[in-house]
Amino acid sequence: MLEEMAQILDGKWVRDQILAECKPRVQALAESERPPGLVVVLVGNDPASEIYVRNKIKACEELGIRSEKLAPPESVTTAELLAIIEVLNARDDVDGILVQMPLPRQIDSRRVLEAVSPDKDVDGFHPVNVGKLVANIPAARSCTPAGIMELLRRYRIPITGRHATVVGRSDIVGKPMALMLLHESATVTICHSKTPDLAAECRRADILVAAIGRPALIRSNYIKPGATVIDVGMNRLTDEEAKAIFGDAPSRKLIGDVHPLEVAQTAGAYTPVPGGVGPLTIAMLMVNTIRSAESRIQCCA
Ligand code: NAP
Repeated sequence: MLEEMAQILDGKWVRDQILAECKPRVQALAESERPPGLVVVLVGNDPASEIYVRNKIKACEELGIRSEKLAPPESVTTAELLAIIEVLNARDDVDGILVQMPLPRQIDSRRVLEAVSPDKDVDGFHPVNVGKLVANIPAARSCTPAGIMELLRRYRIPITGRHATVVGRSDIVGKPMALMLLHESATVTICHSKTPDLAAECRRADILVAAIGRPALIRSNYIKPGATVIDVGMNRLTDEEAKAIFGDAPSRKLIGDVHPLEVAQTAGAYTPVPGGVGPLTIAMLMVNTIRSAESRIQCCA
């Protein structure tokens, strides 16, 4: 029997630390002026989006952040959504505006995201904040990669001078992840669907981040023995897919982009799915909202 050697990087443990650090900051704001305020705009009835939004609102409630959900109908137009954002931009009690993606097809998502005032963009998606990430200037950062940086820091995983490979180049995970690792002085390789020899690129990595959306694509031959493997993927499996991946071993319905059995035997440390990267995203949304409130209240005082 193969021995499981790798350390499990526990995202819930990191999330709990981050949220515990948030509490006194929210309290201080509430005592000095007012609690931070987050507005989530959820268009339509996508079940996955509804769950995400519910979890975000719940996290706010637990910390004492004032939250509001606006739910325009599925048929909303771009102009109507822009008008909603304009009102939120002007409201003093709103520190964070989050437009839950994806938006219905008739909406110009880019225009909507760009309409959110950069200082209320707690997702870190606005081009101004993306530019600040590129320039390494403090600003709201995309929550999932920012959470991964917190996890690496709190587990004392060395980054400086290490080789990091990021698989995936999306605007919300892959690209900001690569930039954050670069700013911590990793040597960074970014891979995507056109990368010719993905396994070879991944095997060079001391830190391998998989943000792909393909269940168990990353197998043991992609992993340098002893590497740190961060699995961002969240994929629901059909019964056949589960059978192909797990064979006769007990199978799971939700897995990441990394083969869950093989990573445990090859990596030095890895994030499990669920319970790895997932819990960090909302925690960093709370951090971004509190930071926004702190700077807005300070500058308006
Ligand atoms: P995305 O926008 O679909 O991007 C996927 C990236 O993977 C693209 O850059 C794509 O390359 C690349 N890719 C696809 N197939 C590939 C292959 N066979 N070989 C190499 N690269 C390949 O996805 P995303 O939004 O970044 O999300 C990625 C995964 O993370 C999804 O499973 C998502 O559910 C999950 N996620 C989790 C959290 C969390 O909080 N845990 C947050 C966000 C996302 P091209 O650019 O060439 O197409």
